[in-house]
Amino acid sequence: MFIISVNIWQMQLWNWRKKKDMKKIAVVGAGLAGSLQAILMAKKGYEVSVFERRPDLRKAKLIAGKSINLALSHRGWKALELAGIADDIREIAIPMYKRCMHALDGTLTYQPYGKEDEAIYSVSRGGLNQKLMNLADQYPSISYHFNRKCNDIDLATNTLTFDNSESGEREKHQVDKVFATDGAFSAVRMRMQKSTMFDYSQKYLDHGYKELVIPANEDGTHKLDKNCLHIWPRGEFMMIALANLDGSFTCTLFFPMKGEVSFESLETREQVSDFFDKTFPDAVQLMPTLLDDYFGNPTSTLIMVRCTPWNYKDDVVLIGDAAHAIVPFYGQGMNCAFEDCTVFHEMHEEVNGNWDGLLGRFSDRRVPEGNAILDLALQNYVEMRDLTADPNFLLQKKIEAKFSKLYPEKWIPLYSQVTFSHTPYSQAIKNGKVQDEIMAEILKMDNIHENWDAPEVMEKLVSLVK
Ligand SMILES: Cc1cc2nc3c(=O)[nH]c(=O)nc-3n(C[C@H](O)[C@H](O)[C@H](O)COP(=O)(O)OP(=O)(O)OC[C@H]3O[C@@H](n4cnc5c(N)ncnc54)[C@H](O)[C@@H]3O)c2cc1C
Repeated sequence: MFIISVNIWQMQLWNWRKKKDMKKIAVVGAGLAGSLQAILMAKKGYEVSVFERRPDLRKAKLIAGKSINLALSHRGWKALELAGIADDIREIAIPMYKRCMHALDGTLTYQPYGKEDEAIYSVSRGGLNQKLMNLADQYPSISYHFNRKCNDIDLATNTLTFDNSESGEREKHQVDKVFATDGAFSAVRMRMQKSTMFDYSQKYLDHGYKELVIPANEDGTHKLDKNCLHIWPRGEFMMIALANLDGSFTCTLFFPMKGEVSFESLETREQVSDFFDKTFPDAVQLMPTLLDDYFGNPTSTLIMVRCTPWNYKDDVVLIGDAAHAIVPFYGQGMNCAFEDCTVFHEMHEEVNGNWDGLLGRFSDRRVPEGNAILDLALQNYVEMRDLTADPNFLLQKKIEAKFSKLYPEKWIPLYSQVTFSHTPYSQAIKNGKVQDEIMAEILKMDNIHENWDAPEVMEKLVSLVK
């Protein structure tokens, strides 16, 4: 009886609050998307409470093996500019202009990512997150609540439940709107999954990853070219390395979880040492702590999530990995999450802050984009680990780059559409398919490997591009 009356009382309070000026916003998860979204909402004049299950990252020590650095590109920069914090982030970002492919025999092949001045930027995930939190702290209307693990949301009353790991208490917070930015295993999404007409699917990739390290030289310089993203493509798997500000590189081995050559099969220090000597001979010389790192750092899995809709009525919305966890092979998970924030901001502006139907329209617009970038990222895994060592693929890239330089209005390579433009991902996929068909025709031309930049090749391309 008591419970029923409390619920009714809550409902009445909720309806009353809906009628008055809505101001209170909760952001669940103080990761990259959460901290950025908090800043954008505070700029609009909302009162924002950010709830994070972990302790304050700025006070905690780095968790072993969690030194991920991310490639930040156009979509991400746009959101950071909107929040007025791009210059602060530039201070901690290292431009990477090219891919550098390391063949088994140590030969290096370089491939520019875009035009001469175009780069993707290596940033430390932790460093970026800390910067965003420090910048958020400058807004009196943003409050952070750490050690608060969301374990449920009552969608009827917008009441979030948190376990406070400091006090051991369970807390409830009723708010006007909820941005769920609590990542791939979102607690808010799990509750939404139980509501009607919510579609959800998840899948683990057969491959997981492990972080390893190439330390700095004694004088603090980098052992490899810091302005490249280094790739050791090995067919079924690959290792990559991105530079850090302290002269080190974070390497990530993407590798099958099970099977003949897999995380499961490499059990002893000898086996790992043998495998690296044979597979990454030029890298292994630069990795003095390889075996300790391999066995000390966790093997992590990669999950993919699709769901729709991303909103619950006009009250709750999923953003970032909570809505679209993707594999990291296009370097777009964070960029897409930041683009979610930009798009929400723009849509909110367009209707002068009128929330009626806004979250539903946002979901309608962004769900296809979340699905498209997941498809693109899966496609790019094959490209990175396999095709970057394939002469035909490299030839195609060279022809594309040349043609696109001659006729920038006729051809923007797919990678550039995704990374250096704001073309919707769903449109980029369509454009990419058409481009592949055209290139298949071009690669059939006689002596194309020798004559790839001949005028007749470019002329044929002009005739094929509509
Ligand atoms: C190996 C790897 C490499 C990557 N490389 C790139 C790259 O190069 N470029 C790129 O753009 N993206 C990359 N990504 C993806 C990128 O890391 C994510 O897309 C991005 O971090 C998503 O941000 P988010 O804020 O949505 O989620 P997260 O960063 O996961 O943040 C979620 C936050 O919510 C908190 N949280 C979780 N559950 C709860 C709860 N129940 N209650 C309260 N708080 C909670 C978490 O502690 C965390 O702070 C990579 C990912 C991986 C794994």
